[in-house]
Amino acid sequence: MSAFVTLANSFYASYRVQRQLLIDNTLEENRVYATKLAASTEQFLKSMQKQLAYSSVIAARHFDDPAVLQSETARLKYQTDSFNSVVLTNAQGRILATSPDSLQLVGHILNTPGAIQALNERRPLISQPYISAAQNLVIVISTPVITAEGKYLGYIAGTIYLRQKSILNELLGEHYYRDGSYIAVLDKERRILYHPDAYRIGEVVKPRPLTEAARKESNGSLMVTNLAGQNMLAGYAVVPSSGWEIVTQRPTDSTLKPLEGLMVKVLKHLTPLALLTLICVWLFSRMIARPLWLLARSANEMDKPDISTNIREIPSWYFESNQLKRALLIGINLLQKKIGKLKFETQTDPMTGLFNRRGLAMALESVVQMRQQFSAIALDIDHFKTINDSYGHDTGDEVIQSLAEQIRHNARESDILCRVGGEEFLVLLPDTTLAEAQMIAERLRQNVENLVLPGIRPITISLGVSYWNQQQGEPETSLKRADEALYKAKQEGRNRVVVGPQ
Ligand code: GH3
Ligand code: MG
Ligand code: MG
Repeated sequence: MSAFVTLANSFYASYRVQRQLLIDNTLEENRVYATKLAASTEQFLKSMQKQLAYSSVIAARHFDDPAVLQSETARLKYQTDSFNSVVLTNAQGRILATSPDSLQLVGHILNTPGAIQALNERRPLISQPYISAAQNLVIVISTPVITAEGKYLGYIAGTIYLRQKSILNELLGEHYYRDGSYIAVLDKERRILYHPDAYRIGEVVKPRPLTEAARKESNGSLMVTNLAGQNMLAGYAVVPSSGWEIVTQRPTDSTLKPLEGLMVKVLKHLTPLALLTLICVWLFSRMIARPLWLLARSANEMDKPDISTNIREIPSWYFESNQLKRALLIGINLLQKKIGKLKFETQTDPMTGLFNRRGLAMALESVVQMRQQFSAIALDIDHFKTINDSYGHDTGDEVIQSLAEQIRHNARESDILCRVGGEEFLVLLPDTTLAEAQMIAERLRQNVENLVLPGIRPITISLGVSYWNQQQGEPETSLKRADEALYKAKQEGRNRVVVGPQ
């Protein structure tokens, strides 16, 4: 999970960085472009003013020659295509020459805002946009006509149409409009001079972050929301001589369009190594977790007989798991020893060290599991009560112990010896036929009979013998039969061996 989260995070981080980079680059591109357009526009305005200034000098010299004035306005109009129209008036605003003179305005008084401003201020001007005499939205660039002596004669002005084809929108219109990018030009009063939507030209916009920014710095960039509510990345620059603000902007959405492709590329580069990392992490964590998991599982199965071998086989390749494995093995060893000891104690008769009834049941089970047949001898001391009565209970105990010793002495390694009651014993003889068992019983009887117990009269025992194999029913029945045979031996006069019915 953590490997995956790390990868996802690096993917997200790369997304954020790429996104910011695209935005920053576009903002900077727009700023640089706006600055360049502002410089070109400045250049253009300066050159217009120079042309007008030159013509004003000629007009001043030949102010009384209408042909010269007319040819000068025509030259300004047609030589460079800078102006949509050119007009020359006298000091009262009466038109002396104009080009083109399609409306035949010569002789008329011109009282448009541009004309009034030029007459009043008598200095080189760039007017605000206004509706001209020919009903065009125009700006006027004008220069006064002054004689060498300093007498004001009038002015000469070139108009630029804002909504029709003009030098200005040719200059700005070179910009190719793709993916929603566009240029706008506003004058100092936030009046739109240029806009791809011609109907908005002339409109005065409200102060907005972009218009206010241009009042503080000559160029810069901003993230803005345009009037249509679209997020835009805008660059701006101010034209020094006119104070116009040129804005170039591009929708944030189209700027971020390449992001998808970029992220797919990032993903392509990231995926192989990421997969490799995930596989490595998975493999290593599995390698680390596996011994722990196996140890934990073994800890749950401590009662299984071969658990120690299983634990020993667990590959514990690092220190901690190895220590845990060792601790587990030591623990199991101790536990098994303790259990073994407890088992031994619960299955053993403390006085003789032979099995008790519980031990007999367990031993019988394993004999039946492993072997096909066995014989059983039940035996009991004859008239034991009298020994107790004559010599005391402690001596009686010693006699019982001596008899146990005798039984043990007569038994084979595989025989199972039990003290099943006070002075009653049972001997299980695996893989032993009835005849062999009878012989063994007889030998034991004789040995006991001949046994010399210091200070005590000799004792005798009675014995009952039975046999069991798989053709017979429950193995416990054979023990019962041995008991019955013992009972019979007692009845028949004691100190004898009786073989029970088969
Ligand atoms: P029988 O020949 O019929 O077996 O006669 P018996 O007197 O031996 O009779 P029984 O086997 O019924 O006697 C059991 C006696 O053994 C009773 C009890 O006083 C004695 N006894 C039982 N357990 C112990 C023991 O642990 N120590 C001693 N000293 N005596 C015991
Ligand atoms: Mg008895
Ligand atoms: Mg007895």
